[in-house]
Amino acid sequence: MKNETKNYDVIIVGGGLSGLTLACLLGQNNINAICIDHADPKIQNTDLRTTAISYGSSKILTRAGIWDEMLKTASPIEDIQILDGDSPLLLQFLSSEVKDRAFGWIVENAHLRNVLLKQVKSLKSFTHLAPAKISDFSVSDNQASVTLDTGETLSAKLIIGADGRGSTLRQWMDIPTRQWSYNQRAVICCVAHENPHNQMAIEHFWPEGPFAVLPMSNAMHDGQNQHRSSVVFTEHGPEKHSLMHFTNEEFEIALNARFPESYGKVSMIGKRAAYPLNLIHATRYIGPRMALVADAAHGIHPIAGQGLNLGFRDVDKIAALLGEAHNHDQDYGSDQLLSTYQSARRFDNISMVAVTDGLVRLFSNNLPPIRLLRRTGLKLVSRLRPAKQFFMKQAMGYHNKKEQ
Ligand SMILES: Cc1cc2nc3c(=O)[nH]c(=O)nc-3n(C[C@H](O)[C@H](O)[C@H](O)COP(=O)(O)OP(=O)(O)OC[C@H]3O[C@@H](n4cnc5c(N)ncnc54)[C@H](O)[C@@H]3O)c2cc1C
Repeated sequence: MKNETKNYDVIIVGGGLSGLTLACLLGQNNINAICIDHADPKIQNTDLRTTAISYGSSKILTRAGIWDEMLKTASPIEDIQILDGDSPLLLQFLSSEVKDRAFGWIVENAHLRNVLLKQVKSLKSFTHLAPAKISDFSVSDNQASVTLDTGETLSAKLIIGADGRGSTLRQWMDIPTRQWSYNQRAVICCVAHENPHNQMAIEHFWPEGPFAVLPMSNAMHDGQNQHRSSVVFTEHGPEKHSLMHFTNEEFEIALNARFPESYGKVSMIGKRAAYPLNLIHATRYIGPRMALVADAAHGIHPIAGQGLNLGFRDVDKIAALLGEAHNHDQDYGSDQLLSTYQSARRFDNISMVAVTDGLVRLFSNNLPPIRLLRRTGLKLVSRLRPAKQFFMKQAMGYHNKKEQ
């Protein structure tokens, strides 16, 4: 018996943090959409990372209908300290300098995903299909289709790839990428410490790589209460020397050596995980009736904590364009809509790719002239109020005057 084709307005490939956020935004406009992910959502999510959500992204998550829920366990960042090697504090951003607004909030990725999944389930016009394997894509003049390995075909006016750095849709669209590895790994974990963090985030640049401490909320999802922070240790060199191979005891010694004394004794909670760090940027984000968003279009180094924030701005833009098309009964996959999306997002994405790549090179280099250059640069930013305000607003993800 031949399978019947199911029709939707939009198909989202990939139900990670960006794909699910897009789903929620489309759901607010009653767009008939489906999100397909090959991973089983019932399997315990193993993402131990936290994300620094900028002020701009909090507005997007509000539009997606989940920010009030996230705020219950989000930890505001009110003090950012930047240090370089063993030199004293070089740069400090305080929320009192930006009308007492938080620079952003630290949220746990696994919790954000659960809240998004719950919201998606409550949407009437939305289908979440996972686990499901896609075996092929196709496109014609007036629709694009996905074939599942069950033989079932799903069609829509537009297919959006939110399927991460290794995007299958991007490969099927034959879109070339610019990419390189930083030969670095981010080793991440969550820690408990004796004293409160006072909503402080630290970025400490060491010759071995940046070491970041991000304030987490005390409230744990199992009901316990602890002073907690999330840690990102960036390391380079051969994998066999990785912190991942340290015993827990050795790892805690390395942690305590890096943490400021004000935190008291630091101990690890749960496991560690390592992520290889690279850069990838698609040369275009669109093709006939197809578009890429978030990491499928651009994956950056986490040095500035901006990868997902950038992805949220993609999904917000495409959702707004699809909302307008819905209100005016227009084609969701028109060339005009896709070109508007690409031109609206390209400059912001290229700028962030360039800034993070420059920061990685500047701060991973320990040659004396480069060290002098960055220390002088940081001191200058610290003393020049307009420059400081500019960097603070970038960190907060302000992208239009109305938000400021
Ligand atoms: C150590 C570290 C720290 C970071 N910290 C921050 C931070 O503080 N702030 C910030 O903004 N960003 C941060 N980032 C970046 C951020 O984690 C990523 O930008 C974000 O996770 C990308 O989400 P995504 O949904 O686009 O892609 P992914 O998380 O890769 O999700 C892709 C989804 O697609 C599914 N999928 C893949 N292929 C297929 C297929 N063929 N068919 C169906 N489904 C498929 C996968 O199962 C997955 O669910 C950090 C990154 C790292 C490595």
